[in-house]
Amino acid sequence: MLVNAYGAHAGDQPLEPLRITRRAPGTHDVQIDIAFCGICHSDLHQVRAEWHGTQFPCVPGHEIVGRVAAVGAHVHGFRPGDLVGIGCIVDSCKHCADCEDGLENYCDGMIGTYNFPTPDAPGWTLGGYSQQIVVHERYVLRIRHPEEQLAAVAPLLCAGITTYSPLRHWKVGPGKKVGVVGIGGLGHMGIKLAHALGAHVVAFTTSDSKREAARQLGADEVVVSRNAEEMAAHAKSFDLILNTVAAPHDLDAFLVLLKRDGGMTLVGAPATPHASPNVFNLIMKRRTLAGSMIGGIAETQEMLDFCAEHGIVADIELVRADQINESYERMLKGDVKYRFVIDNATLAG
Ligand code: NAP
Ligand code: ZN
Repeated sequence: MLVNAYGAHAGDQPLEPLRITRRAPGTHDVQIDIAFCGICHSDLHQVRAEWHGTQFPCVPGHEIVGRVAAVGAHVHGFRPGDLVGIGCIVDSCKHCADCEDGLENYCDGMIGTYNFPTPDAPGWTLGGYSQQIVVHERYVLRIRHPEEQLAAVAPLLCAGITTYSPLRHWKVGPGKKVGVVGIGGLGHMGIKLAHALGAHVVAFTTSDSKREAARQLGADEVVVSRNAEEMAAHAKSFDLILNTVAAPHDLDAFLVLLKRDGGMTLVGAPATPHASPNVFNLIMKRRTLAGSMIGGIAETQEMLDFCAEHGIVADIELVRADQINESYERMLKGDVKYRFVIDNATLAG
């Protein structure tokens, strides 16, 4: 079936209205009417061909929420009308060790929600800046938040799980000092989640204007990372630093803030590499530098349920589809508190 979408025909072109085809639901598929879709910085990296291998037309969007419209004959977990979400994963091999461990995000055959190979037209996946999506039931998440919060739940599907997963993997909780670098879409969720998990949270920002707002998000302390004195006051004190910055920057400035055996996890994925860190900053205190990619389906459901239980949603600015290009420019300037979410109803007509 044909549905309305928003996407780009080339990396140097703005996004514009498109018509795309969605497959009819197969026996294990769930067909979803998309209500809202968050705008992740990864969407911008991909659609502007900053990362390699973007296929055009490209329809981004992997923070998808909506209602089930129809289900295939063998789908038992979902019914028409259910509130559901789709994150960054729409398929995987389903039998490798990663899939069996519920870590589909690390499966070599993982199919991302956009720009991954698929038998469906046009040959690569098309994301959530569209009216509908059809996904195998295994990758459909249940939303237990009240319906009024649905738009603000959308960013949990990427920004939420991408910060929750490393916080859980590195056992963040009471008694742990955690830094979150970059207060954007991911970072603001990282602050909320680390706070809810009981850690002492320090937010690092380049924007003096976010100082007060970061506290309201749940940060116990805020450091403007351009200020060397403020940085030095936290030397050798962190258990974990979660770095969400979308641009290359000085990693050493943060490594020296880790205590013995502390670690920094990079989730930000800049298009060009960071300068290599000074290895002595790792050797000296047995520090680690790691990375983490989104999270598996079971953990995404766990995160959604944790957020529903603790009343956690994203802080969002709702935009129309015809404001997507302008939203990208504002995101690049850090002018968003803290996630743009598209009202997909504005794709109609
Ligand atoms: P975002 O909303 O644009 O936030 C990024 C934040 O980083 C900005 O708000 C800013 O915070 C800070 N920043 C930006 N440029 C900077 C610079 N040159 N130096 C220092 N700080 C800078 O982006 P997002 O959606 O949160 O995504 C962040 C990154 O994570 C992107 O690269 C995205 O592709 C990646 N990502 C990775 C995964 C994964 O699985 N690992 C998943 C989703 C997204 P302040 O104003 O507070 O400094
Ligand atoms: Zn994302």
